[in-house]
Amino acid sequence: MEQYEHALNEQDNELITLARRHLEQKYRKPLHTVAAALRMADGHIIMGLNFDHFSGSICAEVSALTHAMNRENYAVQTVVAVRRNTAGEYVVANMCGKCRQIFHDYVPQARIIVDSHGSVEVRSIEELLPLAFYRHREKINDAMQGVSDEEIVG
Ligand SMILES: [Zn+2]
Repeated sequence: MEQYEHALNEQDNELITLARRHLEQKYRKPLHTVAAALRMADGHIIMGLNFDHFSGSICAEVSALTHAMNRENYAVQTVVAVRRNTAGEYVVANMCGKCRQIFHDYVPQARIIVDSHGSVEVRSIEELLPLAFYRHREKINDAMQGVSDEEIVG
């Protein structure tokens, strides 16, 4: 199980600032209300924005993760999402359950910045989603190692 120092470092604070600036530019209730920033292992920063749609909404974290995949690189180091609270303040948004499962499966090494009862901290996906459903992570590992679909059962 990955465990990380819970305290933020300077790069984490910078990532929060970038996500906040992105949301300040793109906020358009009810369509765009959350922005995410990913720091890749090589230091590259990728932004994401949620969008609301009747057919199914896309979370900012997954939006950013898709951009990372476009670079053929799953090496996400850190992720944070920011939203506006009811007072209009920009605050760290905790990852929803669906995103936790997706990050668990695709980028289990990611450090995730969370609001822990008013304290902004870093957590591993194992801490956010203990005893997770593992089958999809296994499928991803198989696919990355070139195992064909026919060999993947389930
Ligand atoms: Zn989500």
